[in-house]
Amino acid sequence: MPVSFDLTGKTAIVTGANTGLGQAIAVALAGAGADVALVGRSSMAETEAAVSAAGGRSLSIRADLSTLEPIDRVIKETLAWTGRADILVNNAGIIRRADAIDFTEADWDAVMDVNLKTVFFLSQAFARQLITGGKSGKIINIASLLSFQGGIRIPSYTASKSGLAGLTRLLACEWAGKGINVNAIAPGYFSTNNTEALRNDPDRNAAILGRIPAGHWGEPEELGGAAVFLASPASDYIHGIVLPVDGGWLAR
Ligand code: NAP
Repeated sequence: MPVSFDLTGKTAIVTGANTGLGQAIAVALAGAGADVALVGRSSMAETEAAVSAAGGRSLSIRADLSTLEPIDRVIKETLAWTGRADILVNNAGIIRRADAIDFTEADWDAVMDVNLKTVFFLSQAFARQLITGGKSGKIINIASLLSFQGGIRIPSYTASKSGLAGLTRLLACEWAGKGINVNAIAPGYFSTNNTEALRNDPDRNAAILGRIPAGHWGEPEELGGAAVFLASPASDYIHGIVLPVDGGWLAR
């Protein structure tokens, strides 16, 4: 059998798909043949157009993922659309910046809720419909370099992304035998809303750029290949990894 990266006939759910990395992942999966459910709290118009331009089909589902309330609806609406949900990309995430000494409970809870709690319970709902239907599937969590490193001024973000790496491994151990691959991608420094504050700070920007062997901030499209790989049959024997896509940052 030739190696396959083909996602034709599969349905993917991508959270936080209106912008940034989620948008690029949705477009890459559509380009590989998947139908894509775009989940988020903002208009998906830009992503809908980009998916369509890539020759794909999309369904937009409005959902605020700061609570567990929309989870069942996200799965139900996806199943009502194509009758299947094969791939889940847990991409939606937020970051709050402040010195650890001043960090508030509100900034702790907000980040943990979106980046970790909702990810777990959406993955659980996604896996239940696969297991009940006797089907296989793929979960891809969007982790971070802060899954490996400490960072500064982002305590809840680092805790959530380090926790997400652990959760990826636990779910892989529990669900690999049920035909569900659970893996993560750890993006390095990409040009999105998430990193705008860093890019606008000349000192931080220069320090970050100076440490990236590839010599440039990642462009969202540069993440697409890893997402397609982990969503496709080519990665069927890969379970529980956190794959850095970081221009060489961690190799430094
Ligand atoms: P971004 O442009 O800020 O995108 C974040 C996405 O998450 C947006 O679509 C946002 O929707 C969505 N989101 C946030 N809170 C939500 C909520 N309560 N309900 C529904 N959707 C919500 O940043 P990004 O860089 O593309 O981030 C995507 C993922 O990559 C995040 O998990 C982030 O931690 C991770 N990451 C990014 C980098 C980087 O360098 N950029 C590096 C490592 C990891 P709205 O637009 O409506 O807010």
